[in-house]
Amino acid sequence: MVFPPARGEAYNDPLSMKELEWALSSAYDTSPGPDDIPYAFLRHLNEEGKVWLLGLFNLSWEASVYPGRWRDAITIPIPKPGKDRKSASSYRPIALTSCVSKTIERMVNARLIWVAETCGRLTDLQCGFRRRTSTVDLLVNLEGHLETAFAKKQHSLGIFFDLEKAYDTTWWFLMLRSFREWGLRGYLPTFVSAFMQNRRFAVRREEVVLARARIGHCYLTHGFLLRREDPPVCRCGEPLSVRHIFCMCPTLRRVRRRELRSDVLRNILRDYSEACTRALRFLRRANYFDRF
Ligand SMILES: [Zn+2]
Repeated sequence: MVFPPARGEAYNDPLSMKELEWALSSAYDTSPGPDDIPYAFLRHLNEEGKVWLLGLFNLSWEASVYPGRWRDAITIPIPKPGKDRKSASSYRPIALTSCVSKTIERMVNARLIWVAETCGRLTDLQCGFRRRTSTVDLLVNLEGHLETAFAKKQHSLGIFFDLEKAYDTTWWFLMLRSFREWGLRGYLPTFVSAFMQNRRFAVRREEVVLARARIGHCYLTHGFLLRREDPPVCRCGEPLSVRHIFCMCPTLRRVRRRELRSDVLRNILRDYSEACTRALRFLRRANYFDRF
């Protein structure tokens, strides 16, 4: 989503040393992410090191680029107490991400909270994820309604519902659109947009598919080895292989002509992003992406 350029808003200022110091001092010590850099290292940086780190953050802030490596996570399944350990749903996945990236996230999040709280667009009835509010506020409110209804001999109707996986299923497009309606512009909303896009799991799956295309070895064509079955045959009657799907299968001729150029296979090996996008789109159109 595109936002209008900054016009000197305070929330678009370069990230400051004070914000960096605050983000580092308020972080809980957690295990480091894939880069193996714990918070202790960042806290013990000397002045020069902190200036360098802040410079890096401001490059990311002003270019609205959230480096892919900062999204990488080590996922550790933690068993839920008292649940059957043989079932996958009994585990809560904990994703360990880079402490460097969590530091800039915390800095930007603090600004976002400040903007949300001062812009006057949040209703007083929202008590989740806000400072100095809790469920008790809503219970008091509800009780007030009930007592008024009793006093006036009226009815009160309550509707309660629970959103499963509310965080994971947040419709981020709508969230970004709200930012635009709030009149946000410049670095802050653009950075959040860059942060929300290419979310980790989406990127992961596509990278896995591309890696499989590069090595010519995928679940669809080689899964039979694991299942001890016969090699798969394409719907056209030829043996099914990655090369067959991309280059040869006559049933995919039309999709191939529309989506692929002759040099796609060579260019996904070179990691050209346009070729990768085309290859992924081809696999989706050919209905092979999910099984690849
Ligand atoms: Zn075929």
